[in-house]
Amino acid sequence: MIFDKILESGHIGLFTHMSPDGDALGSTFAMAGWLLRQGKKFTIFLPDPVSESLSFMIPEGMDRHIRIWKGDDDWAALKDLEGCDLLIGLDFNVPGRIGGWESAFRASRSYKILIDHHMFPDAGAFDTVISETAISSASELLYSLLRQAPGVDGDVSRLSIETREALLTGMTTDTNNFANSVYPSTLTMAAELIAAGTDRDKIIQKLFFCYPERRIRAQGYILDKLLRVTPEGVAYIFLDGRTQTRFGLQEGDTEGFVNIGLTMEKVRMSILAKRERGSSRIRISLRSKKGTSARECAAEFFHGGGHELASGGRLTLGTDVAAEKDVCGYIENSVRKFFMER
Ligand code: 5GP
Ligand code: MN
Repeated sequence: MIFDKILESGHIGLFTHMSPDGDALGSTFAMAGWLLRQGKKFTIFLPDPVSESLSFMIPEGMDRHIRIWKGDDDWAALKDLEGCDLLIGLDFNVPGRIGGWESAFRASRSYKILIDHHMFPDAGAFDTVISETAISSASELLYSLLRQAPGVDGDVSRLSIETREALLTGMTTDTNNFANSVYPSTLTMAAELIAAGTDRDKIIQKLFFCYPERRIRAQGYILDKLLRVTPEGVAYIFLDGRTQTRFGLQEGDTEGFVNIGLTMEKVRMSILAKRERGSSRIRISLRSKKGTSARECAAEFFHGGGHELASGGRLTLGTDVAAEKDVCGYIENSVRKFFMER
């Protein structure tokens, strides 16, 4: 049982994926909340900062447990990692997803546990793999574990409010507010958490009714000017650096934009390509309807992967495409090939 392992450990390191989303942060902060209650020493190693739109998820007082990747010369952080005798990965399937921490994570001799819901977990990189793909989210998977944890014993009102809120938030964002990947267990989890007094209204308010005006203005422009639909029924948007500057867009402001294209009847896959600030990378998000594999398209053309209907990847300027002006052509050629092969 993982909880025996956790309780006998002296210093626990928690890891989640790059550009952490609601489920990454939800599962991580939920685990952190439980560790805090047990009086355990722990550190959260984040590959990227928490976006402004999800900063409400950081529980009060949690900051001092968080290390954000700053580079190979952040000796204090690397020493902290070396001092951990247990490493727990949440919401990712391969160590390549934890960004800068990857090599130190791999080099560590400590016991490693993975709790995840993506396909193809790298079993060789962990000592214990708890992987379930027929589930809404890593948050839901962790919920099912914490429900049986010592001191909880099936009564989730015994979980701290921070842990409960983190779990419900993570599950809510990964299901796109109960629209995708909802299983009977997902609704049971939500019901039990709400019955235990978890404030869903507050979470919905923070997630979906707190957008900055710039997001809505940018959304209007993007849908009018940048959204294209290919003959194969792929909606795609390339959000270039200039447009992001024009609207003052911040990390997280475009969360959910990729879902919009998919709402058209004729569209079977939707792609959002977004230039990363101050880098030559373009982040790719893919969503598809049943019968089309966003995951296979991400793996074949965008160096990525994820879930069958929700995946991600990247393109690098100078390698995959020469310049920003070639991105749309690359996407159109890729999806043409993708559907021709099938
Ligand atoms: P998003 O589009 O929200 O960034 O990501 C959608 C899903 O794809 C998430 O489950 C995420 O973990 C996964 N994903 C995103 N980027 C990558 C990537 O570069 N590689 C892999 N393997 N999965 C990714
Ligand atoms: Mn997830």
